[in-house]
Amino acid sequence: MAAAVPSIEKAAAGIKSNAVLDFLRKPKQLLINGKWVSAKSGKTFETINPANEEVLALAAEGDKADVDEAVKAARKALEGKWSSINPHQRAGYLLKIADLIEAHADELGTLESLNNGMAISLAKGMASGAADTFRYYAGWATKIYGETNPSDPSVFNYTLREPVGVCGQIIPWNGPIAMFAWKIAPALACGNVSIIKPAEQTPLTALRLGELLLEAGIPDGVVNIITGFGETAGAAIAEHPDIDKVAFTGSTEVGKLILKASAGNLKRVSLELGGKSPNIVFADANLDQCIPTSLFGFTMLSGQVCCAGTRVFVQRDFHDEFVDKLAKQASQAKAGDPLDPKTTIGPLVSKEQFDRVKGYLDIGKKEGAQPKLGGEVRNGKGYFVDPTIFTNVKNNMRIAREEIFGPVASVIPFKDENDAVLQGNDTTYGLAAAVWTNDVSRAHKVARALKAGTVWVNCYNNIDPISPFGGYKQSGIGRELGKHSIELYTQIKSVYLKLN
Ligand code: ADP
Repeated sequence: MAAAVPSIEKAAAGIKSNAVLDFLRKPKQLLINGKWVSAKSGKTFETINPANEEVLALAAEGDKADVDEAVKAARKALEGKWSSINPHQRAGYLLKIADLIEAHADELGTLESLNNGMAISLAKGMASGAADTFRYYAGWATKIYGETNPSDPSVFNYTLREPVGVCGQIIPWNGPIAMFAWKIAPALACGNVSIIKPAEQTPLTALRLGELLLEAGIPDGVVNIITGFGETAGAAIAEHPDIDKVAFTGSTEVGKLILKASAGNLKRVSLELGGKSPNIVFADANLDQCIPTSLFGFTMLSGQVCCAGTRVFVQRDFHDEFVDKLAKQASQAKAGDPLDPKTTIGPLVSKEQFDRVKGYLDIGKKEGAQPKLGGEVRNGKGYFVDPTIFTNVKNNMRIAREEIFGPVASVIPFKDENDAVLQGNDTTYGLAAAVWTNDVSRAHKVARALKAGTVWVNCYNNIDPISPFGGYKQSGIGRELGKHSIELYTQIKSVYLKLN
């Protein structure tokens, strides 16, 4: 039976932008070899607006057969015209893409907010940030150097830094525009080609970005976009024998599957996975900054962020004062209409996520944690959850160990510096951490002792393409951003030339 055509008027109620409405009305297809095509199976799947639970669009359900086509197109592009394009021209493409993203940032932000539920101010900021990422990597395209090596005088030895080849890039639903930029910009800067798969919950902005890439003149087959499900399209990418590298952002559970699947042809793998990040607050912290930023740390994107500061460790002496102040501020941050510019917390992305968070709120209460604020999900249309702050939490409880992906913080007291570091590091994850103190020596000591890929001191959630991002322990393998993505997307060849 053909799926019902969605009612855009209902799903995108209140949207005035013709650009957004026109895009929503168009069929959503796969981008393969520079053309928009339906899935070979003819199947589609629904994309929901999480604020009103209406169907926003029907996306093409790509699977293995479509991934095969995309890989063929990508390989042909890699071995054809794309390899003869010089670094200045590659930089030119990236700069054009950046300009187009910037020119369409409002439209992209609105689409992201409609599809993901994220607050529109954040979504627009992420779109501008994606333009920065493309610009940053445009700079790298002309600065990827090899080396001349101190070889025996009878030979000349040098290294070339070459693209890895065909890259499979699997991205999550929580920051679709940002994740598209983190993957595509460095891959192209280094001369690779890509098959990118957005998450099934949020295919829309990747498709719109695909249109912008074509507008920028990216040659056919260099970037292919396959929408579809993880178990089918995603798995086909992870195990494809002609994909050279897979870059994945998502859950630790799926990251492990990707790693296993990649063994077939020994793909290069980079994984950016989950987290349960400690946000450590010493009694000398500047609370005027620490309270709102700690709130932002666990409620940005409704807490659906891998680096969210969900374990808030507070020095015992002033635990009660801190909790009162945090709860007071959090009580004013109700989840609301993501399209309202004043909203800071939108709905969760999906029913599945809503049920998961509800489940963890129940688990927390059963474990003996006390909700100082919240503790329940909201009833009615849309997947809205207001902030919850649990106290009486022990670091070994499930709510302190497992990733909840909702606006839920556990506040845990600590005695001294040693105890803070011990408890902070007592987790299987290691993506991020924060420390709040006015003592600069302590800040450096604690930053060094924390086992996490990013440590924020007196701030939270700062992310910039200039600096690496990725995890210790089960938070991932490899680092993205900065020069580290250049490492991920290049391989080194050593050339010996015999001198006569
Ligand atoms: P979350 O748990 O936050 O939804 P996932 O790790 O399930 O995150 O999903 C992140 C991305 O991984 C999505 O694009 C999803 O489709 C994809 N994915 C899910 N399962 C698999 C799988 N078995 N193989 C490859 N990709 C997958």
